[in-house]
Amino acid sequence: MNSLTINANSPVSTRRIGEAVGKALGSGDVVLLAGPLGAGKTTLTQGLALGLGITESVMSPTFVLMRELKGRLPLYHLDLYRLENLPEISDLGLDDYFYGDGVTVVEWADRAGVLLPEEHLRVDLEYAGNRSRSLCFTARGERYEQLLTGLAARFEAKS
Ligand code: ADP
Ligand code: MG
Repeated sequence: MNSLTINANSPVSTRRIGEAVGKALGSGDVVLLAGPLGAGKTTLTQGLALGLGITESVMSPTFVLMRELKGRLPLYHLDLYRLENLPEISDLGLDDYFYGDGVTVVEWADRAGVLLPEEHLRVDLEYAGNRSRSLCFTARGERYEQLLTGLAARFEAKS
């Protein structure tokens, strides 16, 4: 399966979805997040962290660009919101995260354009109401397609 849309009708629901994804994530996995401010990218990342067994609180790394959190695997949480151009983003050395042993989650991933790895799980988050968000997952690569198939079994047609 290479795409799946799940509706989340509260932040708790978004976190729960993230947690299910986080439990399925493995070493070297990359999750790219897109969507406007307030769409729930950081909230989803809080869930991913829970699923990775991280107990530290996940805040937006907007001002520090990258935070490393320790769980069952390291989680590299990046936020490219403040970075305007590719040379600046290139200076972050993203490949060290993408091809490292941890899990990399990138908010505002589209800012990194060609620097992004071909294989990844992408989530486009959209407002669907005051407390409702639509989470559209796209898998690029077989590993992530399998992950989505597992997720669909749990969440399809539910909110
Ligand atoms: P982003 O990182 O995309 O800018 P955040 O996760 O920081 O977004 O913020 C999302 C905001 O929207 C939070 O204030 C959260 O409480 C609120 N919210 C309301 N409904 C939802 C939902 N279904 N999922 C996620 N966040 C929601
Ligand atoms: Mg954020």
